[in-house]
Amino acid sequence: MPAISIDYNGVKFWKTTGDGYWRRKGRYLHREVYSGTYGNIPHGWHVHHIDNNRDNNRIDNLKAMPGREHNSRHTRTDGVDRAQYLIKPRSLICAQCGTEAIKRNTQARYCSPECRMRAGILRVQARKAEARR
Ligand SMILES: [Zn+2]
Ligand SMILES: [Zn+2]
Repeated sequence: MPAISIDYNGVKFWKTTGDGYWRRKGRYLHREVYSGTYGNIPHGWHVHHIDNNRDNNRIDNLKAMPGREHNSRHTRTDGVDRAQYLIKPRSLICAQCGTEAIKRNTQARYCSPECRMRAGILRVQARKAEARR
């Protein structure tokens, strides 16, 4: 995965986990943006992305609310994070087979789990071939 960072006030934030949030050392970019404008976030409160797109950290897309209210917004009865379903799908060209696919995951690079697996296997084989030389 290419390392992509966002620069905010001279500090770099990274997407290190699959949940879509930008972080630096346990701090969240969207919370930094929010508190940078409105001041401290009350204890136990979360900052919500109004359009559910965690890449959109503009202040007008952020809204603070009690953590309990925030969690109930995101968690469906089956425990799946609702935001992942509300993000507008985008089209991508699979990095393995070149097929166009529609994905909601903005980090996705492959059309299918099979292609992701195949790409991983080829990378390992390439590394082994490299090591043999
Ligand atoms: Zn939220
Ligand atoms: Zn593919």
